Amino acid sequence: MRRREWLAALAACAVGRASGPASLEPFFESRAGAAVLLDVGSGRPIAIHAADVAQRFLAPPGSTLKPFVLAALLRMGRLTAAEPFPCPGRLTIAGRSFDCSHPRLDTPMCVETAVAYSCNCFVARVAERFAPGELAEELARVGFGDTGRIRPGAGRDAVRLLALGEAGILTCAAELASAYRSLALQTHRAEMQPIVAGMEGAVEYGTAQRARVPRVKVAGKTGSAIAKSGAPIAWFAGFMPSRAPEVAVAVLLQGHSGGSDAAPVAGRILEACRAGRI
Ligand SMILES: [Zn+2]
Repeated sequence: MRRREWLAALAACAVGRASGPASLEPFFESRAGAAVLLDVGSGRPIAIHAADVAQRFLAPPGSTLKPFVLAALLRMGRLTAAEPFPCPGRLTIAGRSFDCSHPRLDTPMCVETAVAYSCNCFVARVAERFAPGELAEELARVGFGDTGRIRPGAGRDAVRLLALGEAGILTCAAELASAYRSLALQTHRAEMQPIVAGMEGAVEYGTAQRARVPRVKVAGKTGSAIAKSGAPIAWFAGFMPSRAPEVAVAVLLQGHSGGSDAAPVAGRILEACRAGRI
């Protein structure tokens, strides 16, 4: 299904003309937010909450961008899955603190654990390997910037902030769901193996544990950001089953923590989907 067609399907749903996508509103329990659940094979929306918000409300993607950044470097041969990196924990870019919030580990980070624990230091360090403009091009290739925006500045700080999803990029829940669908369609590729393992790890032992679904592996990633309005935004995006994805989901919630706020909503949506209740 072409992007324009499913955007039209979302719009139709928003004004109540379509009998197509189901409503995800009950999963939000009156909290402000939006969500899109897509069929991976066709790209069609299976279920939606707040279609208008999902398509129009722009916010930085935060750490939900990390799998795309690391997948691009792996594919380009600028990073290997096993490359070790002892995380120093502390990170300052352009005067702002991006200290890692994960527990201190006895072993160095690698791609898988950097995704699972959402290691800012790892991602900011390896992002310096992109040539000027290259990361923005990579992100545009997977669909970012279609309804959102990619406008990174120049220089080392700008590429590091872009890689962390903190500056130079805005997205919406519909675009993020579509981008994660594109990741889901590539899970068979060699460079995707440590990324998928990291996203499984996020749900099993990392930042996204509250998105777990019994008896099925979910691959996911959390994020948090501040919208232009100043509102704190919590993200979760992912797909299921992790190695043969059938559905991709993006959840946007007004809240401070992707792990505590958005992941539980996504978990309930995915569990209902798995049980055939959506
Ligand atoms: Zn770290």
